[in-house]
Amino acid sequence: ISALPVSIMPVQPMPESSLLSPLVDIVGPRNALTDPADMAPYLREWRDLYQGETPLVLRPGTREEVSAILAHADRTGLKIVPQGGNTGLVGGQIPNDSAREIVLSLGRLNRIREVDAQGYTMTVEAGCTLQAIHDAADEVERLFPLTLGSQGSCQIGGNIATNAGGTAVLAYGNTRDLVLGLEVVLPDGRVVEGLRGLRKDNTGYDLKQLFIGSEGTLGVITAAVLKLYPRPRAQDVAFVGLASPGDALELFTRARARAGAMLTGFELMPRVGLEFSVRHLTGARDPLQAPSPWYVLMELSSGTEGEDGENPTRTLMETILGEAYEAGLVEDAALAESVAQAAAFWHLRHGMSEVQREEGGSIKHDVSVPVASVPAFLSEAIAAVEKMVPDCRPVPFGHMGDGNIHFNVSQPVGADKAAFLARWDEMNELVHGIVLKFGGSISAEHGIGRLKRDLLGEVKSPVEMDLMRRIKAAFDPNNTLNPGRVL
Ligand code: FAD
Repeated sequence: ISALPVSIMPVQPMPESSLLSPLVDIVGPRNALTDPADMAPYLREWRDLYQGETPLVLRPGTREEVSAILAHADRTGLKIVPQGGNTGLVGGQIPNDSAREIVLSLGRLNRIREVDAQGYTMTVEAGCTLQAIHDAADEVERLFPLTLGSQGSCQIGGNIATNAGGTAVLAYGNTRDLVLGLEVVLPDGRVVEGLRGLRKDNTGYDLKQLFIGSEGTLGVITAAVLKLYPRPRAQDVAFVGLASPGDALELFTRARARAGAMLTGFELMPRVGLEFSVRHLTGARDPLQAPSPWYVLMELSSGTEGEDGENPTRTLMETILGEAYEAGLVEDAALAESVAQAAAFWHLRHGMSEVQREEGGSIKHDVSVPVASVPAFLSEAIAAVEKMVPDCRPVPFGHMGDGNIHFNVSQPVGADKAAFLARWDEMNELVHGIVLKFGGSISAEHGIGRLKRDLLGEVKSPVEMDLMRRIKAAFDPNNTLNPGRVL
């Protein structure tokens, strides 16, 4: 079925209540939501781009319940949509609007099973929020580096299912690089018992990597063994004003050459994005005296404290910025003088996704290009969208150190939101064309979901598409999990 174009997929009938009642028995009536008001938060995502219908939201509390649910669904033709914190940005976690898909919410599987400070691992259930994992690591002076603006709500199962990126990829890699083992329930109810914390294990195909980034289409992740790192002992954050993305690239090149692995964050923001953040985030203010067209948030971290009271990251940060200033790359810079100030700088950056909602319609592109091409890509893409919609407000921001830019475009001030958003596909096509010209990717870190499914065939070769369909068919022959997502 998954190989068929959506338009000719057989229409599924509404599930009958006799098919649903065994599911209610598995989790108990309190954890089988049917009341529209109780189900509502599971049926829409925060930007209102996706809104769905379902006859049932299931909230299992054990892996055995997940297994029983999937086995029943697979046997009877029911369709299941796994959901974590519902912060995904490509619509994969929202059921479609035909009321034929059942939501499987993993939030009750939220135990931290084990923290092994000596072995630098943590075993967690899928429904733990990313913030809870950070806090548990911090308690034993360890670091779990995955860092996202949504970390108070998103869950590790969702992070793994989407191979989330975030602001620490530069130093620690994507989620894929942070997972040692997985426990996964297959669509037919069988369990892959892979909770191994080994650093080295070359025993055949690394199956866990197939589940990571599969967006809930191959199995339901119920638990994971995560990699921990030493908690940095010194850290410095600078907020830097610059004239252009070209200067930001030069600063990045110099900072990386000087700081090596100590460079743990390098985020780009345009002036308009900072203005949005200052306008809409409570207590936010511009860290610099005079405006600059572009900003970089740069973070250095060190695992060791300096000697004689010297702070190794502060000394290095001052050297990098001093040299960049001399070279005319930096217009102004502020160094955080406290942990609270560093958090305030990061808040400006992390809040940049949500504040765009306050400025009307926003057309999104989560794209990547080779790092060295970021300035040329930005200049071409900004010119193209401004030609297409005069007075639109491009807000390209994000993980410059990874070449990953959230090329978002806000509507012109006072324009009709619906009319602007009606041009979503047209603008996507324009921007994606430029991305591909630079050898980039049309989905850097948010995944494919429903939003980009129909574009996948345009960017993957027929051989790659064939292999992906075969993998889906091998793991989920009845198309039980997340039908119509990714493929
Ligand atoms: P959900 O949204 O609930 O689900 C996402 C997908 O995973 C769906 O396809 C769902 O079916 C599947 N899924 C969820 N749980 C499971 C499971 N246990 N087993 C199998 N499949 C499952 N993303 C980044 O990569 N980098 C960022 O910097 C970033 N910043 C963000 C900032 C904000 C303000 C917001 C709102 C989102 C941001 N995101 C970012 C996107 C989002 O937070 C991530 O994709 C996150 O990993 C999703 O986790 P979740 O628990 O909310 O998953």
